[in-house]
Amino acid sequence: MKIETEINDGDRRLLAEAIDGFVPAKVIDIHAHVVEPTGYAPTTLGTHLDGRTISPAHYFEAMELILPGGRLKDALFFPFPAREHDRAVINAWMYAENAKVTGSFRARGLAIAGPRDDPRAFAEAMADGRCVGLKPYHLYAGKGDTSQSALEEFTPEWMWRLCDQHGAILMIHLVRNEAVSDPGNLEALRRLSEKYPRCQVVLAHIARAFNHRTARGLRALADLPNIWVDTSAIAESEAIRTAIEVLGPGRVIFGTDYPISHVRGRCVTTGNQFQWIYPEDGKPTRMTLVGIESLLALRAACTDTGLKPAEVEKIFEGNAKAILAKFR
Ligand SMILES: [Zn+2]
Repeated sequence: MKIETEINDGDRRLLAEAIDGFVPAKVIDIHAHVVEPTGYAPTTLGTHLDGRTISPAHYFEAMELILPGGRLKDALFFPFPAREHDRAVINAWMYAENAKVTGSFRARGLAIAGPRDDPRAFAEAMADGRCVGLKPYHLYAGKGDTSQSALEEFTPEWMWRLCDQHGAILMIHLVRNEAVSDPGNLEALRRLSEKYPRCQVVLAHIARAFNHRTARGLRALADLPNIWVDTSAIAESEAIRTAIEVLGPGRVIFGTDYPISHVRGRCVTTGNQFQWIYPEDGKPTRMTLVGIESLLALRAACTDTGLKPAEVEKIFEGNAKAILAKFR
């Protein structure tokens, strides 16, 4: 896998199909990664990241490839998660990098957080504005296979309480096979979202509906006003359409998942699973970027649900602005 810095004619045609007359002039990205590779243990970074540093400045430059015209000047960053790395060091590096972003650009950050981390450092960073919330991840739950972890094993109650106190964002990448259709996940999301109503929950990747059928589980959460979803890396319009229909366009937020957005590939639903496919696998050979696939899917979903331009603008800018407003 390779982070692309150029696109070909085929990509350009698809990109035009995705964005011309659809993507507004201003876009906020609610889900973008930065990488400080020296903070990671050897072999824990994906091969597609190949040891390079990704700062907010790199990111804004890279975004011209899929969102040209200076549309993207404001993003919410968090470090790319890996199992064994020094979270405190990486968070501190990100805070410093975000602080370097000036002028018409804006960078805010979520701290990566493990269940046994000391909450005090995060409380301080939220209080002085260095971070606007937390990004837990199942890999921090412990050793071995964490793909079936219960939500609270990697997103314990102290994270909810802290985000509630600060009106901060809790970015959750659900796990377990059924993701947002898993009864245990649904029970925990309802109980904790109700108990901590000022905690602003963003369920990444349309509540990780890489198998688009699992997105239907969002129906059980539709009445919870502090739950949003982001569109990052989702290439199937069915998942985004379900989110728009169930939650409304006011709670769907555009995200890229950079650098994943700049890798060629696509995640597809198959049976009760999902499968990432990449050109390196052999077939198909002319794949486009995940970010272009995701924009195509988002456009299809907005068209199918009959969204008006003002509602599309909310997805690309207004909703993120609202959720980040208290930190401005
Ligand atoms: Zn991500």
